[in-house]
Amino acid sequence: MTELGGTTATTASEALDLAELRRAVAGPVHAPGDVETVTELAGYNLALEHAPIAVVGATGAQDVAAAVRWAAARGIRVGVLATGHGDLSQRGTLAITTRRMDRLDIDPVTRRATVGAGVKWARLIEAAAPLGLAGLNGSSSDVGITGYTTGGGVGPFIRRYGYASDRVRRLQVVTGDGEIRDVTAESDPELFDVVLGSKDAVAIVTEIEFELIEVPRMYGGSAFWPAEDIAAVLRAWQRWAPTLPEDMTTSVAILRAPDMEAVPPPLRGRTVAHLRVAHLGSADEGRALLAPMRAVATPMIDMIDEMSYAAIDTVHLDPPDPMPFWADGCFLADVAADTVETVLAAAGAEQEIPLFLVELRHLAGAAERGTQGLAPRDARFMVGVVGPLVPGLTEVVPAVGRGLVDALAPWSASRTGLNWVNPYSVAARPELAWGSQEIERIDAVRRRVDPDGVLGAARLGVG
Ligand SMILES: Cc1cc2nc3c(=O)[nH]c(=O)nc-3n(C[C@H](O)[C@H](O)[C@H](O)COP(=O)(O)OP(=O)(O)OC[C@H]3O[C@@H](n4cnc5c(N)ncnc54)[C@H](O)[C@@H]3O)c2cc1C
Repeated sequence: MTELGGTTATTASEALDLAELRRAVAGPVHAPGDVETVTELAGYNLALEHAPIAVVGATGAQDVAAAVRWAAARGIRVGVLATGHGDLSQRGTLAITTRRMDRLDIDPVTRRATVGAGVKWARLIEAAAPLGLAGLNGSSSDVGITGYTTGGGVGPFIRRYGYASDRVRRLQVVTGDGEIRDVTAESDPELFDVVLGSKDAVAIVTEIEFELIEVPRMYGGSAFWPAEDIAAVLRAWQRWAPTLPEDMTTSVAILRAPDMEAVPPPLRGRTVAHLRVAHLGSADEGRALLAPMRAVATPMIDMIDEMSYAAIDTVHLDPPDPMPFWADGCFLADVAADTVETVLAAAGAEQEIPLFLVELRHLAGAAERGTQGLAPRDARFMVGVVGPLVPGLTEVVPAVGRGLVDALAPWSASRTGLNWVNPYSVAARPELAWGSQEIERIDAVRRRVDPDGVLGAARLGVG
């Protein structure tokens, strides 16, 4: 048997009567020493440490509510995990997994999707694409719809359609007081907005209903330039991106592809510039808009073309396999010529740094105009930083990554979307993700629906 969670968690769970929890829920309940616990908590980020006192594989809202009430009665905090792309530091808490909550319904007439909390974007994309419909997914379809959307959700159509949280129309949640609630912007505007910008701070989402968009055709994909062109490509992107119509969302990254078999040979072990393009329009339009970037230098690989929404993962080409990583980011009010020079000075081709990815995304457009949820509205760009969290690099990767994020402070927006702040940073400094107004709103809702602080608000530094 694999020992998971260490002595503290094992002893704590032995002292608890899990039999009562098992009787209260339909799904499985596993203790730290159980081999099933490892599989139940396995996720994408292999660097995350999960050490809950027990894990409940919830089958629906009733299970979530029963588990929350069981934990509340014992003064135990509760956390939730779908895919393990985000953070879940569960030391000493009860973990609820949602992957069995797999409902997926699409109504092509109203163009709405209803999904259970455990559904990943890949299933929605597969079901919606044949109908000419799409969701506001992010760069990787392996990410969970619920965790992504309740963190705002920045995707390749953001300039035209805004944050994923802008399109949500109904939530079913279990609040920290153990109640199952159906929430809309009309029925409980404060709870609705707060859940759409604070993940599991006050409620666990069990079902989510959102509008789909029509994507009859699109033009997009990835292009790569060799190390010697990185500076020219980034400088050109800074001048070009603000000239684009909102139908085109782009980002540019400095990619240090690891020397591993999983990476295709032309990129393996190389440092390159990576342009990512998603255009909601014809190939002719897309090609004309892209011409200035193609003229900067000849790309070593150019896969930007007419494409199907079903292939949306090819825009960003995020690694599909689980890996141990550290990530952080910041939202920017603007990207000026000096911003790019700052990025190049910290992460340009000649720098010996252990970061896989430093990405600049263009957000300006519908994201600035939305009103729902808690996403910042003054951000026109964002920066994401990712590095490997492996022995020997556990200190240097966060230090280098944070150094870059800090260097961009002169251009920062009022705050950063929750999906892009390192979870440990936001726990220590909630003001990175929320202004004082948002913190007050989260705390007011928490006092109403989670008076005993069973859910994540305290973990996120609120309340
Ligand atoms: C490869 C990769 C690509 C990404 N690309 C993007 C992107 O393009 N745009 C973007 O905005 N973000 C992106 N992210 C960030 C991602 O959206 C967040 O990490 C998100 O929280 C992941 O949610 P999850 O459910 O998949 O992960 P989990 O690790 O399962 O959950 C992470 C957190 O989400 C919350 N959560 C999960 N389920 C629920 C629930 N049912 N109710 C309430 N809260 C819940 C909890 O706080 C949980 O700790 C990316 C992350 C990775 C690893």
